[in-house]
Amino acid sequence: MSSKRGGNIFRTVTFRIVLWYAALFIVSSFGVFLFIYFTLASSLHHRMDDNLLVDAQEFTSIYNAGGVEGLRSEFEIEAKSEGTERVFLRLMSPELAVLASSDTTRWGGLDAHPDGALRPPDDRPVFRTLTLPNHSEGVRFIFKKTSDGNIIQMGQTLREDQRLMARYRENFGAAIAVMAVLGIVVAWILARHAMKGVERVTQTAVRISEGDLTLRVPLGSEGEEIDKLAIAFNNMLERIQLLVAELKDMTNNIAHDLRSPITRIRGVAETTLTGEQRIDEYQEMAVAVVEESDRLVGMINTMLELAHTESGIADFSIEPVDLGKVVRDAYELFQPVAEDEGIRFEIDLPQEALIVSGDVTRLQRVLANLLDNAIKYTEAGGRVRLEAKRNKSDVTVSVIDSGIGISGADLPHIFERFYRHDRSRSTPGSGLGLTLALAFARAHGGDITATSAPGEGATFTVTLPRRAVPS
Ligand code: ADP
Repeated sequence: MSSKRGGNIFRTVTFRIVLWYAALFIVSSFGVFLFIYFTLASSLHHRMDDNLLVDAQEFTSIYNAGGVEGLRSEFEIEAKSEGTERVFLRLMSPELAVLASSDTTRWGGLDAHPDGALRPPDDRPVFRTLTLPNHSEGVRFIFKKTSDGNIIQMGQTLREDQRLMARYRENFGAAIAVMAVLGIVVAWILARHAMKGVERVTQTAVRISEGDLTLRVPLGSEGEEIDKLAIAFNNMLERIQLLVAELKDMTNNIAHDLRSPITRIRGVAETTLTGEQRIDEYQEMAVAVVEESDRLVGMINTMLELAHTESGIADFSIEPVDLGKVVRDAYELFQPVAEDEGIRFEIDLPQEALIVSGDVTRLQRVLANLLDNAIKYTEAGGRVRLEAKRNKSDVTVSVIDSGIGISGADLPHIFERFYRHDRSRSTPGSGLGLTLALAFARAHGGDITATSAPGEGATFTVTLPRRAVPS
């Protein structure tokens, strides 16, 4: 299967981050634009109405003081200063006859408009926005009654306000466009920078898949998450490398150690074929074949159990175990064996309970293996001692013998698979017992250590964490 996926940019996380960022940016900018736009429009609208009202009140006062004539000249002055096409001023009678007005030549179409000559129903002013032929941008009108029932009509073009709003739309649009482009570029750079770490991990993974397990992902500066990914990836590689090395070792060992019994079985079978044998010789050969086969099956089973325990998939039934009882049972079991071998067998157990969490069968097998070795490697007249101790946070059980001991050169290797020192070649064994005992102890969160001086015997100490007793 190819590891390359055609480099489709639309499927990359970088592209998606940029897309999300751009979409979020544009939507939120548009929201801000709309908010400002409507706030601005509303405040312009209010300002216009306020101005119209103030002017209408002013004209009412002038009308009250100077009558129609006074108002007419005021209309002219006002229209001239503001511009006759920008403002419209008119005083009408209740029957809608024009009493006074500014220059209305540019205000055609007003009278044809349904609201062109609106009569306010009461004293309150009425506002309207009307669109006229010469004022397509719209005109804001106020219609206000004077105290004698006439109507002051004032209109002001909305051209300036509309221009302001148009300028705002253009400027804001341009600003959004520039900022969106800038935002996309920055988002792209940031996303690329963050993804660089992931790419580094990917590249290493690709190179590793090509066969080099020694490679590691270098730590970078993209941030903690990427560093954590790199560290987790490197730890995983460390473990894989270890497992592969163990697998290699194991296959080598299997090849080496299973070959001997098979060769022996084959040898026996070959001898049987090389000529006429007596019936008791056939029987002897059959016994040899059965024994070798049993040994082989035993070794294979132990190796399987070891592999399961070390990989953490073995089925342990963990419960509170009184290790003192396990030690005593082991002592009673091995007492007759030690006696047969002419070995003095002692036990030293404290009064207090030695409670640990564990699988009782596995713990029994750990002790059985150590005691079996101690008796196996101790000559008649020697001594084996079983000692248990409760410490602050753990429990230790030591198997001390006065046997042949282990040399400094052998000591670091005795827990390795199939390791047997030269002097033990004459005794039966597979070299797997200590490896399995250590795997069991470690699966319980404990350990086994060995100390020895040649000729002075060996001491094996099992340490297991004490079970926390609820107070
Ligand atoms: P074996 O089946 O050979 O006993 P083990 O894994 O139990 O395999 O032990 C590994 C090797 O460690 C033994 O072959 C022996 O050389 C050494 N060993 C273990 N226990 C003792 C002991 N009590 N005294 C001396 N040597 C020991």
